[in-house]
Amino acid sequence: MSNDWKPATKAVHSGTRRSQYGEVSEAIFLTQGFVYETAEHAEARFISSGDDEFIYARYGNPTVAMFEERIAALEGAEDAFATASGMAAVSGALTSMLKTGDHVVSARALFGSCLYVLEEILTRYGVEVTFVDGANLDEWEAAIRPDTRAVFFESMSNPTLQLVDIEAVSALAHRNGATVVVDNVFSTPVYSKAIAQGADVVIYSATKHIDGQGRALGGVILGTREFIRKTVEPYMKHTGGSMSPFTAWIMLKGIETMGLRVRAQTASAAQIAQTLEGHPALSKVIYPGLESHPHHEVVMRQIGAGGTMLALELAGGKDAAFRFLNALKVGLISNNLGDAKSILTHPATTTHQRLSEEQRAELGISPGLVRVSIGLEDTADLIADFHQALDAAK
Ligand SMILES: *Cc1c(COP(=O)(O)O)cnc(C)c1O
Repeated sequence: MSNDWKPATKAVHSGTRRSQYGEVSEAIFLTQGFVYETAEHAEARFISSGDDEFIYARYGNPTVAMFEERIAALEGAEDAFATASGMAAVSGALTSMLKTGDHVVSARALFGSCLYVLEEILTRYGVEVTFVDGANLDEWEAAIRPDTRAVFFESMSNPTLQLVDIEAVSALAHRNGATVVVDNVFSTPVYSKAIAQGADVVIYSATKHIDGQGRALGGVILGTREFIRKTVEPYMKHTGGSMSPFTAWIMLKGIETMGLRVRAQTASAAQIAQTLEGHPALSKVIYPGLESHPHHEVVMRQIGAGGTMLALELAGGKDAAFRFLNALKVGLISNNLGDAKSILTHPATTTHQRLSEEQRAELGISPGLVRVSIGLEDTADLIADFHQALDAAK
């Protein structure tokens, strides 16, 4: 049965619902609503709807259900809820489960919008949030209390690629009955074993490697059937952050090629990191797959690969970083990641501009730091491009 399929088979077949036409490629059910044969049928469906019965696209839709089932099968989760963006998934997962007076412990190194949700929004509703250094287990242990309701972290942080040990933090959280919510974007669904390692809830921005071709925003919350249907679904369907059927179709087709793309991007990233390490214009090459990375052992144990992202620190600071970026001929200056096109970002002046200089320094976001998302171009072309741009940055 489909539960025994290997990931590559699940990625192209799981969740498929064929209409009476027997289409090969998944159909896009671009409809907001569904017709009931009789008033009695409508009444019955509002009381309880079966697997193939839908009410309204904000509540669910056949194309969206296909995406949810496929990504849940791949992740090894009981169920999934698809959302309009990665941030709708992060805010939906947390807000649906928390209430005034709850305590949350979170890693400090977060994507800017995740930090905003935890620091500015949840606290406004009386949720207490304690931030810790995600790589420091003593800090997690000291911060997690008997009344801690949830812990939150990015398993591989943006943009400095710090690893949080899912197994170790989950063990500390579960001792206190806290729910472990992992933003797993940088680890990707291809390498993730997060649920087996102890995560209760796994979140992806589907905008990144799942689409992988820069077309659409989307997100997904994965967890137990109980959590997804009893906690997340009522919140999402009434607050409106659901995924559109058209987006779900893009994401379904994205999943089919995601394994091939992410493995090729990872192999390329590893080769580029090795080649650039020790370059005189760079004070640091940060790539978890390198033995020099402080969390190399954790990343190999946790996902068995270094991932598709690296970070370069230009020795000449912001001016050198800008000269490097401006000299690129293949790599693009933008802020998506996981894309087929290689994308470079200067976090200090863009994604993390909102933070104070002290906060950036604490997170290792120096003026010379450049985040690199490796795409599907020929590795040799990327290496040549980075070398010529580093020469121009001198
Ligand atoms: C991009 C990203 C998000 C937000 O996803 P969107 O689809 O842009 O809303 C959340 N967490 C991480 C780690 C991300 O990289």
